[in-house]
Amino acid sequence: MRKILVAGNWKMHGSKSMVQSLLKGLLAGSSAGGAAELAVFPSFPYLAQTESILAGSHIKWGGQTLNPNPQGAHSGEVDSEMLVDLGCHYVLVGHSERRAIYAESDVDVALRFSAARKAGLEPVLCVGETREEREAGQTESVVGRQLDAVLAAAGIAAFDSATIAYEPVWAIGTGLTATPAQAQCVHAFIRDKLSSLNGIIAGEIKILYGGSVNGSNAAELFAQIDIDGGLVGGASLTAEDFLAIYNAVA
Ligand code: PEP
Repeated sequence: MRKILVAGNWKMHGSKSMVQSLLKGLLAGSSAGGAAELAVFPSFPYLAQTESILAGSHIKWGGQTLNPNPQGAHSGEVDSEMLVDLGCHYVLVGHSERRAIYAESDVDVALRFSAARKAGLEPVLCVGETREEREAGQTESVVGRQLDAVLAAAGIAAFDSATIAYEPVWAIGTGLTATPAQAQCVHAFIRDKLSSLNGIIAGEIKILYGGSVNGSNAAELFAQIDIDGGLVGGASLTAEDFLAIYNAVA
């Protein structure tokens, strides 16, 4: 039985006071026995503060990306061991903003996935097609290619206790949401693809949907058989909006 996960990607937002009030609000409004698990992905400067507030609680946290190299001469970068040192459980890998703005290729994403696994972090592998690719009927070939790059580098065993986030690029931060049927269709494609390699891993892996999830559309999306929660951007920046999604699960 896969428990719903509601994960908040704060992107490049935050301040010490925002982190304090948001996390205190999430702790007050959720519980370990709730219908969903919660996770947050703060910007790097706020991971230490996040650890000090959330340590020992039911809410996990993670980095928004990582550099796959070992520690060394990489000014401005953060490696997997640093994320482990800051108590991270998760790390996002291959978010579409990293792929599009910072030119991370499928191979780069696979390197990051492998580095996360090696360090004991749970990668949340983000995949998804652009609007042009969807309109050209290429959704499955794009998502399949993105998965194949990681499968080729890391193998299906590396997906044991990993998480996948299907995030159609056209739905991220746009207010456009994939319909539950559209999202379910791609989630089923992803699970079937993994199932052809390992049925147990495919049955256990969480596949989150991301793209303008909010308190009004979450329940219907998460009710789909292959949708195991959400990766949430804009609506994760206030406790009220994020908890509305969490509460939609119950
Ligand atoms: C995201 O950042 O991964 C995301 C899905 O953003 P939003 O919820 O704002 O569309």
